[in-house]
Amino acid sequence: MRLPNPPAHSTPASPVWPGAHAGGQRSRRVLLEHLSPPDSVGLAAGLGARSARAVWHPCTRLRPDGNVAPLAIARGEGPWLIDADGQRYFDAISSWWVNLFGHANPAINAALIDQLQTLEHVMLAGCTHEPAVALAERLTALTGGALGHAFYASDGASAVEIALKMSFHYWRNTGLSAKREFVCLRDSYHGETVGALAVTDLEVFRDAYDALTRRAHVVMSPDARQARRGESAADVAARALAELEALLRERAGQIAALIVEPLVQCAAGMAMYDPSYLEGARALCDRYRVHLIADEIAVGCGRTGTFFAWEQARGAASNQNMDERLPAHGWPDFLCLSKGISGGYLPLSLVLSRPEIQRAFVADELARSFLHSHSYTGNPLACRAALATLDLFEQDDVLARNRERAQWLGDALAPLAADARVQHVRQQGMIWAADIDAAAAGTDFPVRFHRAALARGVLVRPIGHTLYVMPPYVFDAAQARWLGEQLFAALNEVTAQVTEPEPEVRRVA
Ligand SMILES: *Cc1c(COP(=O)(O)O)cnc(C)c1O
Repeated sequence: MRLPNPPAHSTPASPVWPGAHAGGQRSRRVLLEHLSPPDSVGLAAGLGARSARAVWHPCTRLRPDGNVAPLAIARGEGPWLIDADGQRYFDAISSWWVNLFGHANPAINAALIDQLQTLEHVMLAGCTHEPAVALAERLTALTGGALGHAFYASDGASAVEIALKMSFHYWRNTGLSAKREFVCLRDSYHGETVGALAVTDLEVFRDAYDALTRRAHVVMSPDARQARRGESAADVAARALAELEALLRERAGQIAALIVEPLVQCAAGMAMYDPSYLEGARALCDRYRVHLIADEIAVGCGRTGTFFAWEQARGAASNQNMDERLPAHGWPDFLCLSKGISGGYLPLSLVLSRPEIQRAFVADELARSFLHSHSYTGNPLACRAALATLDLFEQDDVLARNRERAQWLGDALAPLAADARVQHVRQQGMIWAADIDAAAAGTDFPVRFHRAALARGVLVRPIGHTLYVMPPYVFDAAQARWLGEQLFAALNEVTAQVTEPEPEVRRVA
């Protein structure tokens, strides 16, 4: 197959690959010449070039010698994306972790068409509508009633902002206005608006705007890759908890909340950790009167094996049956959802909170009210897509069937995982990741791997030297095997290009 080849007169952008070295130009150009013969200008290439001229693409470096046009997608079908020339790409990263049940899913499409002919939008201040109410009710039921009062927004970052503001405002309403600091984990990612950046610890996103943010306290991540000789993942979690406790002991009077990505720090490079950390963090936040915010924007909606990742918040020590409900006091104070909740169809985010949070806002004074809003808050179409998504979870017993799919993924990637160049192989439900040895990966690994995989019909975007897949829940065993083979072949191709050893590796997203 051929890749889009931008016309010579355009200077389109190339995607930024956090962690890529600036010195990678030579090998990239060689690769492009190899992949894009001059006669490959097709419909997709034309659209890609127009896009680069007309659209400011997100998370994209504008290179002075820019020469890679974006991949122009014409339509989607199940796990496949199809470009304007008819080339098919397996969407192995669910279009940035949002898609759950494939592209152009018939059930979600039908629900949206019905909603479109009923009510497309109405403001949620002073008005309400069935999809917003039903979605809030069903999500509350999924937490066993522990969390509720869904506060709607549109993007993940807005949900994070809402949780941070609500936490601070709760303490102010309860007479503890000194509690205005936040704690996040090393390498955390919570979005890119100014407030969310303050609790984000990935320098590639944060550093340019440091002067604008109120930096949070950053504590050790429980990332299991940090295990010393003889240490288990639970030991690493215990060390991270000790560091958290040391901070809370000192500053809990000024700290409003701790924010964490439960089980997997996705943007950090799929850093996975022991669930005992969640249980321990919950206990510490209780002891020191600090809120706990669970950012399930990426890990929610079944990605980690349970609907909410937080449901796994019981350490081995408590030895609880996973079929039993997590008790109400075991949940976080706030839980943020976005990405997969609308099935990957429409921008929708929301914050669930404990009942006592809202009680602190019941007052006549305006200053005690949470006067936050977004124009599209609780959009009926987005909520309806989310309801159709929850229907699919129920009707198709998705969590149980995903256990089998997760196994297929693990099996399909086992030959790659066994390779000597591959380290820290890890999987949490439908997220599989491994780190490629830095010397073998060479310069500009994410860009080179991305393009080698595209040439084989797979859309992936490694993070630094971490190769990962997070596919929609709609593939079969044969597709998993094919995916594993393509990724292994792409790895062989990309590592074969490396001639010089890598001097130094920066570990960023
Ligand atoms: C993607 C993501 C966000 C931000 O969501 P946007 O919709 O991109 O603003 C926040 N937190 C986590 C953990 C994420 O993965």
